[in-house]
Amino acid sequence: MYSISSSAREQLRELANDIKERTQLFIGYPVATDFDYSEIYPLFNYFLNNIGDPNRDSLCRVNTREMEKEVISFYASMFRAPQDDVWGYITSGSTEGNLYGLLIARERYPDGIVYVSESSHYSVSKNAHLLRMPTIATKSQIHGELDYEDLRMSLAKNKSKPAIIVANIGTTMTEARDDIDMIRRVIEEVGIKQSHIHCDAALAGSYATFIKPRRSFDFADGADSIAASAYKFLGMPEPCGVIITRASLRVTHGDEVSYIGNLDSTISGSRSGHTALMAWYRLKQLGVEGIRRRYKQSLAVAAYTQHELEAIGWSTWRNPGALTVMLASPPLALVTKWQLATDNGWSHILCMPGITKERIDMFISELASASST
Ligand SMILES: *Cc1c(COP(=O)(O)O)cnc(C)c1O
Repeated sequence: MYSISSSAREQLRELANDIKERTQLFIGYPVATDFDYSEIYPLFNYFLNNIGDPNRDSLCRVNTREMEKEVISFYASMFRAPQDDVWGYITSGSTEGNLYGLLIARERYPDGIVYVSESSHYSVSKNAHLLRMPTIATKSQIHGELDYEDLRMSLAKNKSKPAIIVANIGTTMTEARDDIDMIRRVIEEVGIKQSHIHCDAALAGSYATFIKPRRSFDFADGADSIAASAYKFLGMPEPCGVIITRASLRVTHGDEVSYIGNLDSTISGSRSGHTALMAWYRLKQLGVEGIRRRYKQSLAVAAYTQHELEAIGWSTWRNPGALTVMLASPPLALVTKWQLATDNGWSHILCMPGITKERIDMFISELASASST
């Protein structure tokens, strides 16, 4: 067997220590940190590749396709997709999921216009650019939700073109959620007959169905495609996500590819079999009730954080049901130390699972002493 030098081993040890420490101070990004996948470690000594369409057999037999299908049906049922017309696959994350959503929309409506809210994630306009789709930026309201009146005006000016709307189910910065019912009503009132609603549910997709007050966002509400990042709320050592849509909208390139013995219906060719395995394992651990409980616990930490910030007189607010707590930007040293994303004078704390009240207390006391000096 091969082995590494002692200096390389030292480097590895340092990395492990650094990462451990940095993870403790990781409160500004939407990633859960409370997980343990050691039960499936043995499979990390094997190559696993879910190349091609998850619903078809492939010549490549070292795969976790069965698990991938279970993950997709778990999300499909959370998203109330029609059981007889649903399809999806595990992506590398929601950037790819959003790309697939826009691809579907473009195949349906080649002359459609993409309406992107100014609070949307940067991957949306990047993907529209990759696909050469014309886009119109729409305004968002002060807390990040789509400005439906502004959308109405933009749609009215382009009534003759199909409308492709990207709705946010949890914006990156403030976790604002758009309302699919409202969007559909606006499209209808303007008189546009052809439309596609893609939900970017990267952030909140894994728990959106449990948020109160409920916002319309899923297939039963009228979404055409939904992308979600599985690693964010569930917690995994590696990014991955899902794209779910109606089976009739799946985009395939040509006939079966003989080299892989499968349909080429995904963006990437080779796809990780390990992320599918991890997502499957995590969903087996949690189940629907586990996710619901997890969301409630995180929500309590978010409410606590907001309360403690108010107690020291620090400006803070939070969208209804959100795990994202907005706060006036702390001094730069704290922003750096606690890895807080900052925009326009505001920063945020994401109360994802793994963040404890003790961790929040530690941050708040540093904030209180930094602001009193
Ligand atoms: C994280 C995120 C994305 C991108 O997802 P990746 O998994 O990083 O590719 C897209 N949209 C929103 C709203 C996000 O929060």
